[in-house]
Amino acid sequence: MADYNVIIIGAGPGGYVAALRCAQLGLKTACVDKSVTLEGKPTLGGTCLNVGCIPSKALLDSSHHYYHLQKHAADHGIQHQGLSIDVATMQARKDKIVKTLTQGIAGLFKKNSVTHLPGIGRLVGTNEVEVKGSDGQVNTFSTDHIIIATGSIPTAIPIATVDNKYIVDSTGALAFDSVPKRLGLIGAGAIGLELGSVWNRLGSEVTILEALPDFLAAADRKIADAAFKELKKQGLTIHLDAKVSSATVSNEEVTVSYSGKKGDQQLVVDKLVVAVGRKPNTEGLNAPAVGIQIDARGFVQVNEHRQTAIPNIYAIGDVIGGPMLAHKASEEGVMVAERIAGQKSEMTYHTVPWVIYIHPEIAWVGQTEEQLKTAGIEYKVGQFPFAASGRARAHGETNGMVRMLADAQTDQILGVHIFGMSASELIAEAVVAMEFEGSAEDLARTIHAHPTLSEAVHEAALGVAGRMIHA
Ligand code: FAD
Ligand code: AMP
Repeated sequence: MADYNVIIIGAGPGGYVAALRCAQLGLKTACVDKSVTLEGKPTLGGTCLNVGCIPSKALLDSSHHYYHLQKHAADHGIQHQGLSIDVATMQARKDKIVKTLTQGIAGLFKKNSVTHLPGIGRLVGTNEVEVKGSDGQVNTFSTDHIIIATGSIPTAIPIATVDNKYIVDSTGALAFDSVPKRLGLIGAGAIGLELGSVWNRLGSEVTILEALPDFLAAADRKIADAAFKELKKQGLTIHLDAKVSSATVSNEEVTVSYSGKKGDQQLVVDKLVVAVGRKPNTEGLNAPAVGIQIDARGFVQVNEHRQTAIPNIYAIGDVIGGPMLAHKASEEGVMVAERIAGQKSEMTYHTVPWVIYIHPEIAWVGQTEEQLKTAGIEYKVGQFPFAASGRARAHGETNGMVRMLADAQTDQILGVHIFGMSASELIAEAVVAMEFEGSAEDLARTIHAHPTLSEAVHEAALGVAGRMIHA
């Protein structure tokens, strides 16, 4: 008999959720993870909990309070003097949130009898995993099934080498101990925009250089254009079509050379964040040696059920590509755990929601207008501005809109795109409707509480049929 039914390598939102679901289903489960805290203690939760989703949202929240008080407290009749930010306290709050949540995963492992194997996992056979602990000790465990959930790491570019002092990656930018006077970022993806927003709100002069000509190319154009204008208004400088060719450090400054719309240019900053995307993490895993295929970009190759070429070895999350999002990784973890346990679980990918946590937030699910046009699908649009929402007015958050796209013939919802306060929460309704293959009429006939921001989703659904009430 094998030591375990399932060994999972990686304890991010893919791996730890898979481990818990395997254990719930009665499988003897172990989860290997090599992550350690700054103090050298093993930590669970992967990129998302330690250096990704959670710490970034903690800093976004702190910086939003600071910015909002500065810019909008007076609108509410709130007077304040000598407002200042204590970065050490803000960072300590973030660290405490991370610690609580990562320790929470350890508690869940204990409660569900998942064995945590701290160390570096390596495949030494199709049914064997070697674990090298931080003390150098090596143990090998046999297992019926293996799930690879090793996630991703920041993409490094030779033209801007991370030195963790002046040039940092996203992890470094989450840990600044003071507000940089001038901050540069390479890459205007979700991570670049969120980190740029944090430090801009706290007083940095932020410049983002983005190689692509379109802002947020994957998003709905009208939403992306509105967000671009808003970020500019908030003080962020974003240069599109700006390809960085070098970044050099001297005299405690970083000089970034790039070719932009006005030819070759330079940007001088105190800190530079490289946020040009993430790449799959299979280093040291020994995957090809056991027959697992890896593509040219480093992603582990899997079928629609996330099974590799070796039938008892699966892979989930960032390491297989697709949307590099925590919730996508987690749902794959659930599906794979259930399939290992003999269930016939499936996963739908067209309803994976996307969120960018700038302010106000951007969130969408399904196809954009541009994608529908390219595919030759006839559609109707309902668009409702938050400026016409009573609750948004009460919040003082009138910027943005909800856009709903539905099939012109069947009325089935094909995409919902939101730019506005709490878009990350509002999108859930659209996800559920799309998961049930709902129509715009279904949402139009659904009662929404008043006054809520969700009424804007309702109105957009009414708008698809040309019968909005408040706009
Ligand atoms: P990871 O979370 O990367 O976990 C993989 C784990 O495996 C790590 O702990 C790693 O150390 C470990 N590991 C790797 N190789 C080995 C090995 N050989 N042996 C043992 N352990 C190993 N996504 C969202 O959905 N929402 C957000 O708001 C969001 N914000 C983000 C903000 C930032 C700054 C960053 C960097 C990312 C953000 N993401 C967000 C992306 C999200 O973090 C990832 O999509 C998610 O963590 C992927 O989960 P995963 O389980 O595939 O891998
Ligand atoms: P994402 O992959 O969504 O995290 O976003 C990363 C962004 O970085 C993409 O929009 C890329 O176009 C951008 N990018 C990558 N390389 C460069 C570069 N050398 N200069 C400027 N932007 C870049």
